[in-house]
Amino acid sequence: MRICFASHNKNKVKEMSEIMPDGNFLIGLDELGITEDISETGSTLEENATIKSSYVYKKHKIPVFADDSGLIVHALNGEPGVYSARYAGEDRDDQKNMDLLLKNLSDKNDRSAEFRTVISYIDEAGKNHEFTGKVEGQIIKEKRGNNGFGYDPIFQPKGFDETFAELSSEVKNRISHRAKAVQKFLEYLHQINE
Ligand code: IMP
Repeated sequence: MRICFASHNKNKVKEMSEIMPDGNFLIGLDELGITEDISETGSTLEENATIKSSYVYKKHKIPVFADDSGLIVHALNGEPGVYSARYAGEDRDDQKNMDLLLKNLSDKNDRSAEFRTVISYIDEAGKNHEFTGKVEGQIIKEKRGNNGFGYDPIFQPKGFDETFAELSSEVKNRISHRAKAVQKFLEYLHQINE
């Protein structure tokens, strides 16, 4: 089966291709001739993932999946959530985003948070299936570590002394929100391929 991963990021598409069940062949947006950015105008991760998957499905009528992730901070009513990438502005600057988050949390006692990934998969018949992965943790007061990206230096997953940015990519890729959502999606594909 030919499945589209609604992403322009060639590395992400390659990484996912390598873990697809046998008999499934993954293509990115560029290979479908979709060069434009699909605007993420939803107010939830679910909506944004579905906006991207349905955009492709409507045009090409092939199975397609899209993902959307964000950091949910409980004391900030779920912020930055869908706005994680551009929390401090359209330049999507990780340092500025973390600084703003630390500032907004400075007078809060509850520093609990979770990363969440939602995958929306639209099958050949046009039915939407959602898979969610979560990792709980807390926002520490200062940045620590150099690995990863985004909010990794200030996120300490539950059960670990290190931040995401101090953990190796092997460990992060085992416990992360993204890994868990992908795992659920792959289990589903394996099941329907049986
Ligand atoms: P995306 O949907 O995967 O592009 O994620 C949106 C934004 O959420 C990113 O630009 C980051 O700011 C934040 N984010 C998502 N996943 C992670 C992660 O694993 N570590 C740190 N930040 C993340």
